[in-house]
Amino acid sequence: MKFYSLKNPTNKSNFKDAVIKGIADDKGLYFPEEIKKLPTNFWETIENYTNEEIAFTLIRPFVDNMDDATLKQILSETLSFDFPVKQIEKNIYALELFHGPTMAFKDVGARFMARCLQHYNSNNVTVLVATSGDTGGAVANGFYKVSGVNVVILYPKGKVSDIQEKQLTTLGENITALEVSGTFDVCQDMVKTAFLDKEITDRMQLTSANSINVARWLPQMFYFAFAYRDLKKHDKEVIFSVPSGNFGNICAGMLAQKLGMPIKTFIASTNQNNVVTRFLQTNKYEPKPTIPTISNAMDVGNPSNFVRILELYNQDIEKLKEHLKSFSFTDEKTKETLVKLHQKNNYIADPHGAVGYLGLKEFGLSDNQIGVFLETAHPIKFLDVVEPLLQLKMAIPEQINSVLNQKKHSIEIATYQELKEFLIKK
Ligand SMILES: *Cc1c(COP(=O)(O)O)cnc(C)c1O
Repeated sequence: MKFYSLKNPTNKSNFKDAVIKGIADDKGLYFPEEIKKLPTNFWETIENYTNEEIAFTLIRPFVDNMDDATLKQILSETLSFDFPVKQIEKNIYALELFHGPTMAFKDVGARFMARCLQHYNSNNVTVLVATSGDTGGAVANGFYKVSGVNVVILYPKGKVSDIQEKQLTTLGENITALEVSGTFDVCQDMVKTAFLDKEITDRMQLTSANSINVARWLPQMFYFAFAYRDLKKHDKEVIFSVPSGNFGNICAGMLAQKLGMPIKTFIASTNQNNVVTRFLQTNKYEPKPTIPTISNAMDVGNPSNFVRILELYNQDIEKLKEHLKSFSFTDEKTKETLVKLHQKNNYIADPHGAVGYLGLKEFGLSDNQIGVFLETAHPIKFLDVVEPLLQLKMAIPEQINSVLNQKKHSIEIATYQELKEFLIKK
């Protein structure tokens, strides 16, 4: 399978090189040249398939330079935890994606990508990644001790939760955390500048582990298909509401739809960082600086994957609007919903999941529809918000407990020059 750059369709690469490079030389995101529907029969009999079989069927066409047995092995390691669908209300379900090692859905993409890089045996790759919260932990954990790969994570000082910070600053070994005075957008800009800086790229192979990397992005198709399988027996139309920041997750769901998954509607639920919500109303794409919110993993002013969504629809905005809805919510509304979900539905959501739930409510489900919101992180990761609001103490899961007592190691930086010096010294 070839992937082409969204900046120049004649600039092509195979999967292997797309994973190693992260982004094309012209700085375009990679996009698959061919998106072929899977046999209808696969979707009609999906209840007979295991998670690993579904994942293999979905991703096999995209992956090259890897035999079936290796791909199956990588998938079985990537997916070694549960993806339960829990009923919250009569026709509303939560797809819990937080049962992995860092308790965020990004574990799936990060684990898959790390294993691909290891398989391709590309020695001395430096993974450079900016995080607004959860990416850093998932990437640190997924790449920990992967030989030949150094990981450098930039995160905005004081703007990630304590648990998130511990998850990305305590591992050591091949993982370094850089604590940046500035917002997530500042971190992301530094990373983008580094990718363009010949003095750096002449010295080392840089790659990204954000959802711009195809090996992070594509595996996110899987759990939409798992949930579809689990809910198929109800014989109703399934609608996914995806709490969205960089729009990688929802874009992967929409790719699964192009592979024939019988889903008509996706809802991009956002916080006040709502450039896409506004775009679908006005047809004008007007990024704004990031606004900090309590759902901080979605504090993204200019989501990188939106160009992929447009490409999935051949830039046909009207067609896109038939399948993609978007609603945006304030922190006030999100807090109110966290309380309501706890008191009325006996469910402890995290702020991102609550935004997803709100999206379904705003959409307004009919009787023949089932709504699924993605619970993208365990509420414990946002305990500073959730505990005071619900007036309770949550038990700390083992995965989290094991990092909480570790010592934080980070290097503070404020300017691009400092990042550059750090990379070159390495
Ligand atoms: C990353 C993240 C999101 C946003 O996902 P995108 O793919 O960037 O849209 C939502 N919720 C949580 C908890 C996350 O970590």
